[in-house]
Amino acid sequence: MTVTIIGSPKCNLHNMGDDHPESPSRLHQINDQVIASGLEYVVHFANANPINKDLLYLAHDKAFVDNVFDKAPTEDYERVWIDEDTIFMSKSLNAALHAAGAVRDAVDMVLSNDTQSAFCAVRPPGHHAGKSFSAGFCVFNNVAVGAKYALDKCGLKRVAIIDFDVHHGDGTQDIVLDDERIMFCSSFQHPFYPFCGDEEARTDIVNVGIPAGTSGEEYRNLISHWFKRLDEFKPELIFISAGFDAHAEDDMGYIRLVEADYAWITNEIKEIAAKHCDGKIVSVLEGGYALSALARSVVAHVKALSG
Ligand SMILES: [Zn+2]
Repeated sequence: MTVTIIGSPKCNLHNMGDDHPESPSRLHQINDQVIASGLEYVVHFANANPINKDLLYLAHDKAFVDNVFDKAPTEDYERVWIDEDTIFMSKSLNAALHAAGAVRDAVDMVLSNDTQSAFCAVRPPGHHAGKSFSAGFCVFNNVAVGAKYALDKCGLKRVAIIDFDVHHGDGTQDIVLDDERIMFCSSFQHPFYPFCGDEEARTDIVNVGIPAGTSGEEYRNLISHWFKRLDEFKPELIFISAGFDAHAEDDMGYIRLVEADYAWITNEIKEIAAKHCDGKIVSVLEGGYALSALARSVVAHVKALSG
């Protein structure tokens, strides 16, 4: 099955400093591991285009988007905190536009059968960015923009977003909360940053809080009901918020997943996609900060996508 890795060198010009965990090294390490694993001979590669500002308004309030554009520094020496975790420098806005643009491109490619599935190797990540806020290293909600684009611009009626990052996709939930065309399944360490996910939400928002210390086997049991729910929802396209910070080697969280668990969940999602949407999956990188574990997990995920 064809898998395309979509990214842009522009994403790595966003650099919040040597000590910041959300660093350009993340994509460099993924790229190295894709080559070392031999995956580069199996997958296709595509360069992302920046997204048009108007498409960001599909998921975000106009005033928020305009404010980010206004705040973006123009001089190389300038640094601006756009929230308490996320720093903007002169190349950051362009990186964020390419990250969201990669998902838009992935939707176009998957829906036109140019590729069966796509993995967007992008940063900054997106799932903590809500309708009117950036947060947690995230500027624009790449996966939610892609989901809204697929619905509002490409004519789809139902899409699902599955988020297995160690942190709750609070920004995604904020955006999809009142949109019943989108099913959202999120697993996350709980209680943990961003300290939400246990509030009442609509039926097709399926949050699963995971206790610290949970093993891969226990994790699989805890989320096993997702797949029946997804089967009933019948998505026409499946998005994945693919964060790899629930890996046992990642000290950003305290869940004990390994590469085989990421391959397992990818295969479970593929089964639903094969049944309802010709295998169409758009996966988008979120967190993952233990560089070696991140890169090995991405390879396991993309290998599973490619079958
Ligand atoms: Zn995370």
